[in-house]
Amino acid sequence: MNYSVIAYIGLGSNLSNPIAQINSAREVLKASEEVTEIAFSSLYCSPPMGPSDQPNYVNAVIAISTALSPLDLLHYLQKIENNQGRVRAERWGARTLDLDLLLYGQQQISLPDLVVPHVGISQRAFVLYPLQEIASDLEIPFFGLVKDLVALCPADGLEKL
Ligand code: AMP
Repeated sequence: MNYSVIAYIGLGSNLSNPIAQINSAREVLKASEEVTEIAFSSLYCSPPMGPSDQPNYVNAVIAISTALSPLDLLHYLQKIENNQGRVRAERWGARTLDLDLLLYGQQQISLPDLVVPHVGISQRAFVLYPLQEIASDLEIPFFGLVKDLVALCPADGLEKL
């Protein structure tokens, strides 16, 4: 039997009513017998990374307790993405929901399909600012304290909704 760990998941959406997408993913996680919600950040609006000819993103971070293994949790998140994240009315394959496994306890994982802490966690305002709201004193393995990383990270147009 696995022991429970605290994991942090980043949620993002910029299509098909992003706020509803994020809230729906939260409800699915909360309803799961495998997952207990510990904290949920505010929703944030952030300008898109990369091509700017796309809508702004809505982002949030959720802290959960789970006994799922890291890979089982990743696959569960991918199932939620697939269930609600692809809308066939949109361009084929358009992503309406992105769920990233940001942290899994204090584990550092480097597998072909799973890198934890998530790449970019230490530099992305739309991850760090919501994470700070629910876990300011958290240590990110290899990178340091969330609050110290936030102090070094420009808000880059991020706004709390
Ligand atoms: P994306 O298109 O950004 O959702 O990336 C999905 C791909 O990233 C999948 O193939 C995952 O296996 C891989 N991946 C690696 N590390 C992670 C992580 N920590 N959380 C979510 N996906 C990850």
